[in-house]
Amino acid sequence: MFDILSSIISPFRPYKSFKPEIKRGFVYHKSYEKLENMSVIPGKKYFQLKERLVKSDWVKDIPIFEIDRKPEREELLLFHTPDYLDDFFELNLTDNIMSSEIPLTYEIINFFLYSTRGTYLALEMAYKSGGIFANLSGGFHHAFCCHAEGFCYLNDVGYAIENFQKNYGKKNILVIDLDIHQGNGICYCYGKRTDVYVFNIYQEDNYPKKEEAHLNIGLPSGTDGKEYLAKLADALDLISREFQADLGIYLAGADPYEHDVLGGFLLSKEELITRDQMVKLYFGERNIPYVIVLAGGYAMRESDVIDIHYNTLKVSLTGNG
Ligand SMILES: [Zn+2]
Repeated sequence: MFDILSSIISPFRPYKSFKPEIKRGFVYHKSYEKLENMSVIPGKKYFQLKERLVKSDWVKDIPIFEIDRKPEREELLLFHTPDYLDDFFELNLTDNIMSSEIPLTYEIINFFLYSTRGTYLALEMAYKSGGIFANLSGGFHHAFCCHAEGFCYLNDVGYAIENFQKNYGKKNILVIDLDIHQGNGICYCYGKRTDVYVFNIYQEDNYPKKEEAHLNIGLPSGTDGKEYLAKLADALDLISREFQADLGIYLAGADPYEHDVLGGFLLSKEELITRDQMVKLYFGERNIPYVIVLAGGYAMRESDVIDIHYNTLKVSLTGNG
């Protein structure tokens, strides 16, 4: 009896229970809870965000799908190189691994593996349902095929694009990356592709070394919300004339926030909500299914990072459109 009751109450569902009639959902794995805070990185944010979501009324009607498995090596090889994967799995502290600037442990390996599979599953569900799905992790856009960088070991977005294209055929995928740091790993691999369009707005005088993309908008330190949102509106207008997307991936970094310690923009929480609404409207008006991944966030107060991610998810997964 208790089992039946708890299965009704529990917001978690196995991935295999997904049906295309379900138009909204999250993906999550308990390995997301194993991360600790590391220097400026709020590793606990994944757990705290999940805790806040499961207590929220609006999430009661939105399933949280448990990620079914880790990626297979052949799937990872569609994006990453064999030597790099060997170093990663064997915890070899080579230059290509150490450039991540975070430790490498079995917990961290698992976290990245499930996060990577999670972004793929979210993309698959968005495609099959025509809806909006979010990975409660992901957005590790600094990882290259053969080296780690900027706290990122595996590039979940690159993995998702490659495996999706392999399984479902070529589709046009629009990547909107609004983390304050340019997604150099994604730009490097997809910045010249014709089936993927990569758009970034980033702080031009901040990490990393910039790579070519279809639309790169670098803004100076001190850019406020008004200017940022005006640039975003112009960019979305331009993209609508340049690229016909079948699917979208939105990296909703929390670090353009005014109190972020690794960022220099001045957006308030309300302005970040407006940003998320503009992205939702863009995809919604064109009937483009899309996925949301969290990406970065390093506010002085950890609770601000949770608030920003929470707001993104609430704005994107509730209401019409
Ligand atoms: Zn960032």
